[in-house]
Amino acid sequence: MLLDVKDAVRGDTVKMDAKPAGKSVQRSLHQTAVEQFHRAADLVGLPEPHRAILSHPKNEVIVNFPVQLDDGSWEVFRGFRIQHNNIIGPYKGGLRFHPDVDLDEVKALAAWMTFKCALAGIPFGGAKGGVTIDPHGYSNAELERIVRRFTHALGSNIGPEHDIPAPDVGTNAMMMDWIMDTYTNLSGPGAKQTVKGVVTGKSLACGGSLGRDSATGQGVLYSLRHWCGEVGERLDSLSIGIQGFGNVGGHFARLAQRDGCTIRIVGDHTGTIRNETGLDTVELAAWVADQGGVAGFPGATAADTEELFSADIDIFVPAALENQITLERAETMKCRLIVEAANGPTTPEAEILLGQRGVEIIPDILANGGGVIVSYFEWLQNKSSRYWGEDEVDKGLRTLVWDAHDAVVVTKRSLNCTRREAAYAVALERLADLYDRRGIFP
Ligand code: GLU
Repeated sequence: MLLDVKDAVRGDTVKMDAKPAGKSVQRSLHQTAVEQFHRAADLVGLPEPHRAILSHPKNEVIVNFPVQLDDGSWEVFRGFRIQHNNIIGPYKGGLRFHPDVDLDEVKALAAWMTFKCALAGIPFGGAKGGVTIDPHGYSNAELERIVRRFTHALGSNIGPEHDIPAPDVGTNAMMMDWIMDTYTNLSGPGAKQTVKGVVTGKSLACGGSLGRDSATGQGVLYSLRHWCGEVGERLDSLSIGIQGFGNVGGHFARLAQRDGCTIRIVGDHTGTIRNETGLDTVELAAWVADQGGVAGFPGATAADTEELFSADIDIFVPAALENQITLERAETMKCRLIVEAANGPTTPEAEILLGQRGVEIIPDILANGGGVIVSYFEWLQNKSSRYWGEDEVDKGLRTLVWDAHDAVVVTKRSLNCTRREAAYAVALERLADLYDRRGIFP
């Protein structure tokens, strides 16, 4: 079967053989996102006008802004904010600071946020932004000026009822605090308290939520627990490999080990390490905080990058960047389940091969929704000035993650499709229903 998928934005066509041809197909991340969308749209019979709306971002904001560096020189940076859809609620999604950030990547990530929020049942649309920069190459003082000037350049394109950024790869709570402070200062004295919710993922002192820091990792673990219940597995019998030991991979590893899982192999940009009897994730986190990466960790032996993918483990958790599970790597994988903590880690042809080999995937828009779910709780807390306890946040997170999984499992059975297609189908039906009820202006 040949899938003929039209990318309505670029106007070109991606042809994809349902049997992987033996080598990876070159396509952009946005083409992958559009392809996934159209496949699910076919499944649910999404009408043409809804397809056209949802395969384009609504707004694409690109800003070029100058910042003075510590040595007195000036550098011009390029920043993006792509607002994909806001029919359900304000645009929502992270800001990425990474050298590979470009328009195509941010467009894909923005679309995934729309489907992620719709699937999670939270009243947000989808957006994503970022700056093309390696944040490690700049001092804290420089980063502060870059973040503040970027916030100024975005101006009224963001706002607590309009578009709400959050952390993503290369950004953190400190940067969210700077965005909030810059935005509130630009909003005039009367609005200072009411606009705190312009950004989520802030520090607790600046109006952040308990549990936001670990929310994505915790949500990934709740996803794994839900799967265990579905297929009759014991969580504490599982061995796990993780790619990435940053905010998502690090918290997930610690929480999974606490619940009895064996973390057998971990890789990041500095190297790959393994310990057959299980890595001590608390000690590893301390090592990474001090050394900047997992390489050289004394409680493990060094391994090759490709061993991370071919390791003898039950579960593989990609928690780094996109396009990591390629067709070539998929051929070597021995795990039974992939839980996509990262956005877009599996290429489409790798996914087809994995399906043929009986490897299940819990897709990104379902598995990593924990971060934006607790962002929603933070936004609610900022609006009401009533701050929640840890238990309230955790219970709310678990309920929304499991509700989304329940809906996906039911849809997967009724449509006899993959978990990713079912996740999209649930999200698309919710979005389509809203368009049908509201119609389009005028
Ligand atoms: N960057 C995270 C994601 O990709 C969180 C987004 C948010 O909290 O708005 O889901």
